[in-house]
Amino acid sequence: MSDKTIFEMIIDREIPSDIVYEDEQCICFRDISPQAPVHLLVVPKKRIVRIAEATSEDQAVLGHLMLTVQKVAQQEGFAEAGFRTVINNGPNGGEEVPHLHLHILAERQMLWPPG
Ligand code: AMP
Repeated sequence: MSDKTIFEMIIDREIPSDIVYEDEQCICFRDISPQAPVHLLVVPKKRIVRIAEATSEDQAVLGHLMLTVQKVAQQEGFAEAGFRTVINNGPNGGEEVPHLHLHILAERQMLWPPG
């Protein structure tokens, strides 16, 4: 696999980030370019490149990421008001960082269809 991604550098504390949650399988930190008043990223510590490349071996960690979204939404206090979770995959999906991550956008009304 290629060199470390920016998210692996954050996981390894090689570059700073505003971490709001961490456990043995994943980390959640604030997006550096927020697209909503709250914009968080949930990232597995194991580098899964993108959802299209996940395998059945990743099933448990993928479930853990979803439950971490729920946990962080409750912890940060926007679970009841609502939020949006996004996974960008590949060029047409708008993916920039080739390390799976779930965006959590909150504290504003989301629109549909998305851009
Ligand atoms: P995506 O387009 O889905 O790959 O999203 C990548 C996200 O990572 C973007 O929303 C970026 O703003 C965000 N990002 C890039 N570098 C950093 C960083 N150093 N700290 C926090 N978020 C970052």
